[in-house]
Amino acid sequence: MFRIGQGYDVHQLREGLPMWLCGVQIESPVGFVAHSDGDVAIHALCDALLGALALGDIGHLFPDTSAEFAGIDSKILLRRVMDLVHDRGWHLVNADITIALQAPKVAPYILPMRECIASVCGVDADAISVKATTTERLGFVGRKEGCEVWAIALLSHKAE
Ligand code: MG
Repeated sequence: MFRIGQGYDVHQLREGLPMWLCGVQIESPVGFVAHSDGDVAIHALCDALLGALALGDIGHLFPDTSAEFAGIDSKILLRRVMDLVHDRGWHLVNADITIALQAPKVAPYILPMRECIASVCGVDADAISVKATTTERLGFVGRKEGCEVWAIALLSHKAE
């Protein structure tokens, strides 16, 4: 049995805030406005995993009105989502994440990002793809106002 899910998230950029993507801190003069650590890539992946099992979304699971999640490391949220996946007998086959960000360049961080997500999800790094693109200076991403991320995750379940 297989299930597929997709996730999408956007965070606004602001000067002087930390930038976390796929659990890795990126050297950058701007970072993400958020209630959590703002790891927009992990948030999209969480929504893909939740989407595959029709379990809602991370905004529902981890409300941004709750003090418990203020400034929280998004890897903790991903671990909790993976617990929900594993508790139901499913496991992650692979995930594919696309990050749209005008600057800074995240290419040097791709391998550590894949390794970080793989270790949190308990899979090999070759099951996690992370891709980055600019939007050729078009739109809010191109104007460096925000970052947009899409994620897709495939889950499998051993048939009884
Ligand atoms: Mg988010």
